Amino acid sequence: MNVAELINKEKETAFSFEILPPLKGADSYKLFRDIETLLEFSPKYINVTSHRSEVEYRTLPNGLFEKVSVRHRPGTVAIAAAIQNKYKVPVVPHVICSGFTKSETEYALIDLHYLGITNLLLLRGDRAKNEKNFAAMEDGHAHASDLQVQVNDFNKGRFIDGSEFEAPSVPFSYGVAGYPEKHEESPNTDSDIYWLKEKVKAGADYVVTQMFFDNEKYFSFVKRCREAGITVPIIPGLKPITSQTQLTVLPRVFHIDLPEALATELRKCATKDEARQLGVEWCVAQARELKSAGVPSIHFYSMNAVNSVKQIAEKVY
Ligand code: FAD
Repeated sequence: MNVAELINKEKETAFSFEILPPLKGADSYKLFRDIETLLEFSPKYINVTSHRSEVEYRTLPNGLFEKVSVRHRPGTVAIAAAIQNKYKVPVVPHVICSGFTKSETEYALIDLHYLGITNLLLLRGDRAKNEKNFAAMEDGHAHASDLQVQVNDFNKGRFIDGSEFEAPSVPFSYGVAGYPEKHEESPNTDSDIYWLKEKVKAGADYVVTQMFFDNEKYFSFVKRCREAGITVPIIPGLKPITSQTQLTVLPRVFHIDLPEALATELRKCATKDEARQLGVEWCVAQARELKSAGVPSIHFYSMNAVNSVKQIAEKVY
């Protein structure tokens, strides 16, 4: 079953979460422990993020610098397969344009196909840390919509060089990202929703949103999407705050606002644990309201917040 079918068949709001592959060189035990912490809430699926290489400069013994390309979190495909095999929960690996050529993406699709992984989240991906603006690889994609074309062609049995193969019996299904507070590069919300609608017309079965801390932003986004003719499920993404530093980090990194009521309370927290507890309470309130509004599913960004997500799920599900 694909993600849209999995969540549509539920009467109740479904639960899903997102994990990051371990850092290069780390083993997968902690990741599996984290997943096991959340399995009791019957996740309908588990997302696995994808990460590009970053350019780094290393000092050589002669004092000169060496430019190297390092992928700090490789292994998305392998970790996704390991999770699906170990826990029998469908996985949704993210496939990104950023840092990947079309040919590398094609090999990843071939691997995913062999592994029986058919749900994907297609994204442009974050820009490289040393880049001011996103730059596509020379032989890569500039937008998630271009990646969709490649996946749609693959589903029809067509490689990027135009040669043909037997089309997969179970084609890839996929979702795309949506931004209740607008994507940072978009000139305005309407323009962002215009491109989102194009992605849905091209075959996206559902949308997962960027995190937000004010449900009104989500409700208003969904209303505007519906008015624009986007009818697919729009899954809200929630992240529990876990530290006071996120007060400034989250707006900077994700281009989202924190409501003043949350910011005020967060400033008052004297310890990390107080901040974490506040994050749990805020997220519980958000999730309860979204659930009452009948959202099909809630997606939790659980990075460094697995215990918080567990506490939230205990109260909400
Ligand atoms: P796009 O759809 O390409 O949109 C980018 C911008 O271009 C938007 O402003 C849009 O309005 C506009 N646009 C869209 N299509 C076109 C077009 N055809 N022509 C002109 N303009 C267009 N990043 C990672 O690196 N790895 C991850 O695993 C990851 N997971 C994520 C999961 C979720 C749920 C979300 C919300 C984000 C995730 N990101 C991830 C970050 C995401 O990739 C970035 O926000 C990125 O900047 C935009 O991705 P996108 O797929 O929305 O891009």
